Amino acid sequence: MSSASAAPATLTTLKYLRGYSADLQAQVLDLVAQDKLGALLARRHPEPHEVRTDRALYDYTQELKSRFLRSAEPLAKVVYDPKLKVIQHALGTHTTISRVQGGKLKAKREIRVANLFRDAPAAFLKMIVVHELAHLKEREHDKAFYALCCHMEADYHQLEFDLRLYLTHLDQCAAAPPAVTAPA
Ligand SMILES: [Zn+2]
Repeated sequence: MSSASAAPATLTTLKYLRGYSADLQAQVLDLVAQDKLGALLARRHPEPHEVRTDRALYDYTQELKSRFLRSAEPLAKVVYDPKLKVIQHALGTHTTISRVQGGKLKAKREIRVANLFRDAPAAFLKMIVVHELAHLKEREHDKAFYALCCHMEADYHQLEFDLRLYLTHLDQCAAAPPAVTAPA
């Protein structure tokens, strides 16, 4: 038995993995304690993306939508949102804004993507956009919803899990105290 006293990993660090087995959470804590989670994710998802601006994000999303969800309602807006806390609604938000137009209520669809995806690996951006697009058709996180996600990205489930690991890793980096060095 070794105690991982160096890493301040606690169960709160695993808030993104609630609902997974204790066994799996223990494995992830081990990776965190050994400082291996970041390297593992970098190995699995080495590719960055070039979707830097809201304009680029809109185009990127629209491209996926026209490929897979042509018949869904048009997108009014797609933006990176610096205020968005990632896990609020399982990772992103999709909103319908009702506006009165000529006496009729018309729904406008907006997709907001948390700012951290700007610098995340390409695979995670795709995963989150696929997730939000699927909500154009399916409101709940149910079977039909995930079927649609997998239709757009065959590896969806693995990517969503890896994203949860990535968020855990980012939390861990933010929480870790600076390395202590002996005073010169
Ligand atoms: Zn959702």
